[in-house]
Amino acid sequence: MLWLRSIVFYLSVTLIALFIGGIAGREWGLTFALVVVSLTCLFHIFNLHRLYHWLQNPQVDNVPSSFLLWQEVFDQFYTEVRKQKKAKERLANTLDRFLSAAEALPDGVVILDEYDRIEWCNPASCDHLALNRKTDTGQPITHLLRHPSLREYLKQEDFSHPIVIRTTRPTEQTLSAQMVPFDSTRKLLLSRDITQLERVQTVHRDFVANVSHELRTPLTVVGGFIETMIDMPASDAQTRDTHLQLMYEQTQRMQRLVDDLLTLSKLESGAQVREEEVDIPQLMQLLRTEGMGLSQGRHTVEIGKLERARLIGNNDELHSALGNLVSNAIRYTPAGGKITIGWERRDDMLCFTCRDTGIGIAPEHIPRLTERFYRVDRGRSRNTGGTGLGLAIVKHILHRHQAQLCITSEPGKGSEFAVKFPATRIIE
Ligand code: ADP
Repeated sequence: MLWLRSIVFYLSVTLIALFIGGIAGREWGLTFALVVVSLTCLFHIFNLHRLYHWLQNPQVDNVPSSFLLWQEVFDQFYTEVRKQKKAKERLANTLDRFLSAAEALPDGVVILDEYDRIEWCNPASCDHLALNRKTDTGQPITHLLRHPSLREYLKQEDFSHPIVIRTTRPTEQTLSAQMVPFDSTRKLLLSRDITQLERVQTVHRDFVANVSHELRTPLTVVGGFIETMIDMPASDAQTRDTHLQLMYEQTQRMQRLVDDLLTLSKLESGAQVREEEVDIPQLMQLLRTEGMGLSQGRHTVEIGKLERARLIGNNDELHSALGNLVSNAIRYTPAGGKITIGWERRDDMLCFTCRDTGIGIAPEHIPRLTERFYRVDRGRSRNTGGTGLGLAIVKHILHRHQAQLCITSEPGKGSEFAVKFPATRIIE
């Protein structure tokens, strides 16, 4: 303890002074005490002065050093300042990490003060709300927002629900924005890009509408026939047979649609399939035979180039995808046309090709052909037994094989569907 040691020191000085006074006379004792006390005062004044100077700029690496009790005082300062420096560094690190995380957030975050002025905002919020971090910080947000409904939302008091806004600047997107009050006066304005989510919801809604529509037509036809047959005299067997035949065709149509839907849903579930070496020559022969069966002698179906390279993939899936292309070629080629399939090398890649001399496709339709239920000519697709899902299934299967579908076509002349497989799937 510092004070105890000081008392002991001064008591010792007194005792020594008394001792000297007793031996050498009072003056010498007093002189000794005076000299020691003066030196001690000088020592304290000198160290106080150093402490004062150091306190003006207290750095851990320039804490003064001394001896005796002042060394202990300085050591204590050193420990404290070091502790504070470490705590400060830790706090700065935490703040840095927090800021980097907030900057990297895909959602927009704007911190507003009690007068709705921007205190801080992250890059995502600048993208969403067209803010500029340099010039807009400190500005009232209501002056900067372009969207009227968002400005209205900020003025009201109820922030329990987010609002959805559609922006065109800086980019076309749909945003969900919500104000979250925190501490007593400040607020957070959060924004999230829900463009993709909205698109998925629209695709889903359209899909359900399309399926319902596709099923309703054959169901109405079947229902109509049944109704007619109920009132039909039993003797009219010929009409009954015709109706039964037509009803059978409609149920077949529904069956095909449900089968394709199930195939799509299985593919979309992403379940892994066995990968094996696909026997290309055998598969090509099979596709040709199936094509000829479907054509029933109305077309010529030929195998063109047949490279030796082999392919790694799932036999059944590839059979279904490539078979779909051949079946389309036959269905969209008038009688007398020619379908040529091939396994050929193009730009250092191996591809399956299916060429036809059919009706062709206008360029504006080509990018949309693999969408579910997209058809160029609805009537023709239906009449030839199409469900509108064939190329969507092809797209999924090819995606699972990292393959690419390239369509080139000329209306009235014919089309070519080429499937390019990546080098990693080829065995030379
Ligand atoms: P669909 O069951 O209607 O044939 P697909 O998904 O297989 O459905 O094909 C989508 C659309 O692409 C078809 O409706 C048709 O308009 C067009 N199409 C596909 N293949 C060909 C082709 N070889 N020639 C011309 N048009 C084609």
